[in-house]
Amino acid sequence: MEPFWERVRARAMSGEGIGREDALAVLSLGNDALWRLLDVTEAVRRRFKGDGIRLCSIVNAKSGLCSEDCSFCAQSRRSAAAIEKYPLRSGEEIFREAREAKERGAREFSIVASGLAMKNRGELTRVGDAIERIRTELGLETCVSLGTLSSEDVEYLLSRGLRSVHHNLETSRSFFPRVCTTHDYEEDVAAVRAAKEAGAWVCCGGVFGLGESLEDRAELALTLRELQVDSIPVNFLNPVPGTPLEGRTDLTPPDCLRIIAMMRLVNPAREIIVCGGREVNLRDLQALMFAAGATGTMVGNYLTTSGRPAEEDLRMLRDLGLTRRD
Ligand code: SF4
Repeated sequence: MEPFWERVRARAMSGEGIGREDALAVLSLGNDALWRLLDVTEAVRRRFKGDGIRLCSIVNAKSGLCSEDCSFCAQSRRSAAAIEKYPLRSGEEIFREAREAKERGAREFSIVASGLAMKNRGELTRVGDAIERIRTELGLETCVSLGTLSSEDVEYLLSRGLRSVHHNLETSRSFFPRVCTTHDYEEDVAAVRAAKEAGAWVCCGGVFGLGESLEDRAELALTLRELQVDSIPVNFLNPVPGTPLEGRTDLTPPDCLRIIAMMRLVNPAREIIVCGGREVNLRDLQALMFAAGATGTMVGNYLTTSGRPAEEDLRMLRDLGLTRRD
């Protein structure tokens, strides 16, 4: 085996993860090296996570009306996308969505609200009440994505039964100012640290295909390693009409596989959950995301776009000989 492959495999299998130069080399591999790459990443995924796949599902509990200007987001203040906009849904509506998610096969349910941070105490209590009900009546684990929460807010939600906090960094520190100008990257980093300190399981990743370089992709993966996040959602741009990135299609399906693979090799023991944009970017290569190192995916609809029917994803897992994991 050539030194590159030997080194990459050994560093990932040890749990240490590959460094910046090797991460860049993985992202630069040609399509002719794809099967060889997937052979390594599948072995790494199996070593740390076996053949069990996590399925997540979300509800967009508060849509649009966001103060922030994230270029990829249909809910941003810069977006003219034709999406539904509404304030925080009632506890009953959130619970109903959770029950439907359970029927689709989800074991974890995420409550997502647009906005930089949910600061309103009444809204936070409503989410806390919903979490408690979803945990006790449906037995689903819960996750929230409510912006830059303080550690006190996270502690409150944990006391109501919450398991995970999701907050994406979106992209690298270097590229972030070209994605969002209304808040600073360090605010997001601080929110991730606060959630870790409060004792939550932290889910933090980004979105690819925004115009970032290969260096930016590697930088994000290394930042996530430094922050010791537990789970890494990988999203691919779905260039919604009306957003500043409308029409942008930077990624090929093999690019997406190289991104997932690089993320797996930099963060060998973490969950990697492929989320938004997988259908439009991976297309017919979707099933290969697990060989590339994904240990989970999202079923059902995304925040402002539709996913494919959940039954197709469950069938894909069965066809691959993979199982669902809690
Ligand atoms: S990604 Fe979040 S913070 Fe940024 S515009 Fe969308 S809803 Fe607002």
